[in-house]
Amino acid sequence: MTNDILVFAEQRTGKVNPVTYQAFSVAKHLATKTGGAVHACIIGKGVREIAAGLGGYGAKKVFVADDAELEFYRALPYARALTAAIDAPDPRIVLLPATFMGRDLAPRVAARKRAALATDCVSVDVAADGLHVRRTLFSGKVFGEYKLVGDRLQMVSIRANAFPAAPKQDGSPEIVNVPLLLTDSDRRLQLTEIVRTGSGVKDVTEAEIVVSGGRSLKSEANFKIIYELAEALDGAVGASRAACDAGYQPHSRQVGLTGKVITPKLYIACGIDGAIQHLAGMRGSKVIVAINTKKEAPIFNVANYGCVADLFTLVPLLTQEFRKLRHHA
Ligand code: FAD
Repeated sequence: MTNDILVFAEQRTGKVNPVTYQAFSVAKHLATKTGGAVHACIIGKGVREIAAGLGGYGAKKVFVADDAELEFYRALPYARALTAAIDAPDPRIVLLPATFMGRDLAPRVAARKRAALATDCVSVDVAADGLHVRRTLFSGKVFGEYKLVGDRLQMVSIRANAFPAAPKQDGSPEIVNVPLLLTDSDRRLQLTEIVRTGSGVKDVTEAEIVVSGGRSLKSEANFKIIYELAEALDGAVGASRAACDAGYQPHSRQVGLTGKVITPKLYIACGIDGAIQHLAGMRGSKVIVAINTKKEAPIFNVANYGCVADLFTLVPLLTQEFRKLRHHA
């Protein structure tokens, strides 16, 4: 085993998930302590060009599994490819984004490699006695600190936006092909159809800014003002469960305990009461702005900035001001 760190660079349809760049900043930090190198691995079809670009984020070598069978994510072929990509550099630590793909892939690969795995971490550091990680527990109410010890491979998935992205610099990595040797059992699960939801609109888990609307929006059509503000900020649109259950937004946009857990740099809650189940999905946001007509609304307890105001008046005014700022920028 080397002292190297391997980053799994997640891509879909040729687009790298931004959490990957955040994983690189963690990897670079860990490498300064282990004395090893940072490498990356990318899996997909036609991903060689993206692989070359990963050198700019600190990858010395990029292990590439490029095959038509890997065009779309499927757990078994991807697990096979990632396991093979880990075998090549034999790293001490593997970092993955704690996305839907990472959540599916990490335990499968950890089981195959008999590795220690810590998921959805918000802090990662290495010391002489092991790898120290921090995870949120009980819907973000407490942190759990863990230590991964022993001389087995250690795998860590990192939560989106919990770490800064590594800056892009110059760098041309060595590209190493990883042969894909699928078995019949790897092909047991066949992909028959992909149904895209909310295509063309950023996903809440990827965006640095999320503007969310609640039941108070009263209709799908009224969500237009939320979309306009999100667009002015280059952000994504989220919603409370009440708004999704009412059919104003698809459940893919739901933030919360039974929706998506997000940690954007800025979360703007418009007409959302702040039920504990909603807070479970967004209380880790760096800055929270709440707009609500009711000054006792629990959302104000977690908000950094609170506006006691009617969202139908304030949201369009904010959009107008942010558009002006962007225009002058
Ligand atoms: P409401 O509770 O109706 O609040 C509307 C808010 O808008 C109020 O604060 C009101 O003062 C304000 N308002 C009204 N008009 C205006 C206006 N014009 N301008 C500004 N403010 C206005 N919820 C989630 O969000 N995500 C989850 O994942 C989730 N999971 C759940 C899981 C379980 C097991 C359970 C039991 C519940 C879950 N819920 C979840 C539901 C949660 O308990 C709340 O019911 C829900 O979050 C309420 O949504 P809301 O704040 O949009 O609506």
